[in-house]
Amino acid sequence: MGEWIYTVECRMSGDYRRRLKGTDDIEVPVQGGEYIEKAKIGRAVMDADVFISLTHFKGHETTGFGGTIKNIGMGCGSRAGKKDQHSVGKPTIDQEACRGCKSCLRKCANDGLIYDADARKMSIDLEHCVGCGRCIGGACNFDAISFMDSAATKVLNCKMAEYTKAVVDGRPNFHISLIVDVSPNCDCHPENDAPILPNIGMFASFDPLALDQACADVCLSATPLPHSQLADRMEEENFCDHHDHFENTTPNSEYKTCLAHAEKIGLGTREYELIYMK
Ligand code: SF4
Ligand code: SF4
Repeated sequence: MGEWIYTVECRMSGDYRRRLKGTDDIEVPVQGGEYIEKAKIGRAVMDADVFISLTHFKGHETTGFGGTIKNIGMGCGSRAGKKDQHSVGKPTIDQEACRGCKSCLRKCANDGLIYDADARKMSIDLEHCVGCGRCIGGACNFDAISFMDSAATKVLNCKMAEYTKAVVDGRPNFHISLIVDVSPNCDCHPENDAPILPNIGMFASFDPLALDQACADVCLSATPLPHSQLADRMEEENFCDHHDHFENTTPNSEYKTCLAHAEKIGLGTREYELIYMK
């Protein structure tokens, strides 16, 4: 039998392409928002009558884990919206600690780093840096890069929750989260590592906050996979045990801030009941 290859021709208008790429956004008021008055959401997302999210639940180098709230809040923010959420998160580089290895340079897609070849030191170009945080999580083996503002991660977490609320408020929404291949860093990270936790399964809820809380809880009760980044770290001499897999992986993530703020602004509840389905 011969092979059949089907191709689907894309006939989107330039206008629609712009909408899907997030350069065409719409300002959406955040009910109860404390950090964001109007979230900048990709217009195509807000055009939909019903909102359904599908998330790969994994670790995250800045926010501890990347779950449903992160997927919706950051994912549906337009480019301007993403910048808005990261706006307090610009990093700084400790010049004494920097060894000039340039490993961080490969992580930055925004020309946010400047290398001084004479001094063999890296520094941040504040004009170009958008505060995405990719150079912070795991890029530097010498702990030379950190957020300039120690409250930056907290604010980022709260803003993500507010962006998520802007997206789901006022229309039917449903959420699915897959706890499989739980990498230590986000999927967008150029260098990642083997999963830190075993595959657990598929979770779903009408409440994005309850879903994230449930996913986080089952991950916290799982045993780290041997030889993973997390397991290796836990065996290091002088390891400081936070008794929390996400904090042990990303100590400054403040991920609970996101969950607490999401509840405070009425995104959902952190209480849930797990119903198992076979
Ligand atoms: S990865 Fe760290 S040590 Fe290497 S250049 Fe960047 S800041 Fe400096
Ligand atoms: S925070 Fe993002 S944009 Fe800024 S220097 Fe680091 S990787 Fe580049």
